[in-house]
Amino acid sequence: MPDSDRWVVAGLDNGGTTVNATVLDSAGRFLLDRLAESPSCVREGPDGAVEALAGSLEQVLALTGTDPALVRAVGLDTPGPVSADGVISSKGATNFSHPDWRGFDVRGALEARLGLPVVYNNDANAAALYAHFVHFGPELAARRSSVSVIVGTGLGGGVIEGGQVVRGAAGMAGELGHIWIPMEGLLAADQPLPQCNCGLAGDAESVASLTGIEKNLLPYWLTRFPGHELGRAASASKAAKLVRGYGEAGDPLALAIFGQQAMAVGRLFTIAANFTDPDVYFLGGGVVEAAPHFRGWFLERVREHTVLRAEQARAETIALVPDLDMAGARGSAIAAREAVQRG
Ligand SMILES: [Zn+2]
Repeated sequence: MPDSDRWVVAGLDNGGTTVNATVLDSAGRFLLDRLAESPSCVREGPDGAVEALAGSLEQVLALTGTDPALVRAVGLDTPGPVSADGVISSKGATNFSHPDWRGFDVRGALEARLGLPVVYNNDANAAALYAHFVHFGPELAARRSSVSVIVGTGLGGGVIEGGQVVRGAAGMAGELGHIWIPMEGLLAADQPLPQCNCGLAGDAESVASLTGIEKNLLPYWLTRFPGHELGRAASASKAAKLVRGYGEAGDPLALAIFGQQAMAVGRLFTIAANFTDPDVYFLGGGVVEAAPHFRGWFLERVREHTVLRAEQARAETIALVPDLDMAGARGSAIAAREAVQRG
């Protein structure tokens, strides 16, 4: 290969506690088959965190024996809310609580620090891009579309059209968690309307997220199962994290909660079917990393509530987001490689 064809990009996934890093070569091969983790230092504010990102890049290049001169671009992702250009929300964000983060241009700061182009995506969009490329392969990916839903602390979403992340005018496309979904037939007759941190009531995240379990679903279902062990957990957040284990064991309270979450995800996919009509719907997060029998049960319920027309249903409907722990860094690297190829 001539020297001009030998180049790489890096992907840096900047989380609340750790940075995950990877390296992708010009041919589309990852030079690392696992995570390269280092502390993210985001709690110390932007200066320390940008240094930590630069350090994680050095570390992953050394780990893969890559000459730093070969790096053409760096992909970066962080949790939101962040603008499409990588400016942290002026109201701050859960993972960026230090006051200096408010309105901070993390993409621009890293670009200045490294002297390299930095391509930004939020973490859900980066994971959606990775799922899309793994599923379709690099050739077909550019001609296919997908919608991703990742159920975690919140509900992260990503919309990919023709291999590209749909960003929107203000960078807020793909915020699938904050789409209103019909609650009729989802909630029990006496169940209060679930509230979301974004201020809406009855959106997808208010049901299908760990926060939704803690704030909305578990408090209600504990009233229907008086004396349930989860009512004696040390805190609401501890109890919410235990629900999945109970679901895997077939506990009726937990299955009621996950049944509502699956219905919410299915209704969200139904909206997507009428909006962008994607080739594939991806689902990721804790519940699909659960024991296989429970994952199967959950996916079956999601499919049941995803209403597709006959013409749509012939496509493969629901696939899993693979390697979720690596998906942010890898999706960021894919975005950086695309940007280099586009010139
Ligand atoms: Zn919301």
